[in-house]
Amino acid sequence: MRRPMAAFGCATCYGEDAQAVWRGQREGFEHESDVVDGSHFSVDVRRCRDCSQRFVWIFTELVDWMGGDDARHVTVMPLTPAEATGLIAGTLRPLDLGALGRDRRRLDHDWPTGGPAALHWDSGAFRVTEGR
Ligand SMILES: [Zn+2]
Repeated sequence: MRRPMAAFGCATCYGEDAQAVWRGQREGFEHESDVVDGSHFSVDVRRCRDCSQRFVWIFTELVDWMGGDDARHVTVMPLTPAEATGLIAGTLRPLDLGALGRDRRRLDHDWPTGGPAALHWDSGAFRVTEGR
């Protein structure tokens, strides 16, 4: 039997309005731990200041060597306490985070090379890549 969708977060950190949630990222979240700290790929764990829900922030940059305008992508996805602990402890690998998308939604922010930024809620498993 399929488990029901887990409940995550509050209206501030996980509300319907993607733009509002994105705008709240700067002040609404407390940085908790760096998991990967690279210039083209970084993963960190943040915590909502209102409800203490933890989120993983995945930043990927794909350098376009021909031009200066690099494609960048950010995914913000909630984690259960056990997942956050595993990610920080190293038992949950960053590249395996994509599988967690199957039972929850995530905020995706895309800056494609040469195009305008796009922001939307997404769901389903996804692929985490290390960027380059
Ligand atoms: Zn919250």
